[in-house]
Amino acid sequence: MALTKKELAELSFSQSVSYYFDKAAPFTDCPEGLLEQIKVCNSIYRVNFPVKWGKEVKVIEAYRVQHSHHRMPTKGGIRFSLHVDQDEVMALAALMTYKCAIVDVPFGGAKGGIKISPRNTPVEVLESITRRYTYELMKKNMIGPGLDVPAPDYGTGEREMGWVVDTFASMNNNDVDAYACVTGKPIHLNGIKGRTEATGRGVVYALNQVCSYADDMKKLGLTTGLEGKTVVIQGLGNVGYNTAKFIVKYGAKIISIAENEGAIFNAKGLDPEAVLEHRKATGKITDFPGAKNLKKNSEALELECDILIPAALEKQLTGENAPRIKAKIICEAANGPTTPEAEEILNKKGVLIIPDIYANAGGVTVSYFEWLKNLSHVRFGRMQKRFEEETQENMIKLIEDLSGKKATRLQVETVVRGAGEIDLVNSGLEDTMISAYHDIREFKRSNKKIPDLRTAAFALSINKIKNAYAALGIFP
Ligand code: NAD
Repeated sequence: MALTKKELAELSFSQSVSYYFDKAAPFTDCPEGLLEQIKVCNSIYRVNFPVKWGKEVKVIEAYRVQHSHHRMPTKGGIRFSLHVDQDEVMALAALMTYKCAIVDVPFGGAKGGIKISPRNTPVEVLESITRRYTYELMKKNMIGPGLDVPAPDYGTGEREMGWVVDTFASMNNNDVDAYACVTGKPIHLNGIKGRTEATGRGVVYALNQVCSYADDMKKLGLTTGLEGKTVVIQGLGNVGYNTAKFIVKYGAKIISIAENEGAIFNAKGLDPEAVLEHRKATGKITDFPGAKNLKKNSEALELECDILIPAALEKQLTGENAPRIKAKIICEAANGPTTPEAEEILNKKGVLIIPDIYANAGGVTVSYFEWLKNLSHVRFGRMQKRFEEETQENMIKLIEDLSGKKATRLQVETVVRGAGEIDLVNSGLEDTMISAYHDIREFKRSNKKIPDLRTAAFALSINKIKNAYAALGIFP
């Protein structure tokens, strides 16, 4: 039954994810009971523990939700934010399940959250909270290379994943695979090259792919490719910054960046690396040389632009501001930035929304590569790099012999190159984003009634999860 405008506006984050699921369900071939099983969160763990904070003791509220066990381990980031609550973690865990299925990463979905402000917590307290949280998960068998593998999310990064792995590995010191208990680790703690920037890089690969279809772009009044497209980015954290850094390499022009403290605009384009430096030096992005400060940070979302990239938090595009949004493409780098109410409005306006479960799947894709690296105990490319180079050198020699001409040193150096870890990670990521979009687009084209890309992505994902259950022979 269709929801009223009021009901739509009142949906919580996890109810919004279920709403999108229900909207997609009729386009799947999944039986009713199984749909219900795929939709619900399988395990929800809430824990409170004390932490010493200066001279005080404070109670910390933390969660881990495993949404689906249809594939193991489960996988999903750990978020540090004052907004964390059970509903938010449930929503994010569910999104992880659908995301993993979309990009064929063989994990169930999970998410963790700790209700703290990382900015206002001393580093030593952050460390004891992270280590205690890891220990609490261990007590419940909710972390481990084959059980549940966290990663960074909003408010966390390499450093926190380092504390997680150090805690887990020191308590499992005879487990040779212990380092695969978490991804997004620092390189020197068995992380993988390219993981930190993977989500942002994946967002740009996704956008590049979406913008490569002339007929889709024509409907939006746009040309193909990213070159010259105007971009607005909300959030200059891990995902927003890396998206910004990478998209300018494709010739796109970032005209505005919004952060918590304000937003800046420059029609000629902003250099994200310089903006980040400025923020580090002054504590804010505003007053950036050559740029204009906007009155409110939310104003950035409403600017005239080709591509709007929300890369901060959920529920940023709502029924309230959606009528004023002028972007032609919205690429959901954050999880859940568009509410169902906003989506209805934006769809009616003809805006192309690239859904989160596809757009930001680059992070979990490279996390999967890191997990594989940890389990195989060898760096990607280590065994074959030199062999590839020798084969290429032999090929050049053969061509030289047959043609009687000598290749220059520069020509040889351009051609002879064995793939190292970063090359393989980035090409695996790009290939994943290209083929996943192809599948989503084709699925949408296969049924004219599918209204938008999100519905297509959800339906495709549900079908893939259904296939895992079907392989068990549980259907009549
Ligand atoms: P982050 O903490 O590194 O950065 C988020 C940034 O957004 C911060 O700088 C914060 O100040 C800013 N911000 C918060 N509220 C804002 C607002 N109202 N306006 C403007 N800026 C605001 O977090 P992140 O890892 O970049 O995650 C961002 C989003 O991407 C989240 O939704 C997260 O779930 C999603 N995501 C992250 C990853 C990952 O690999 N880190 C992977 C997939 C999805």
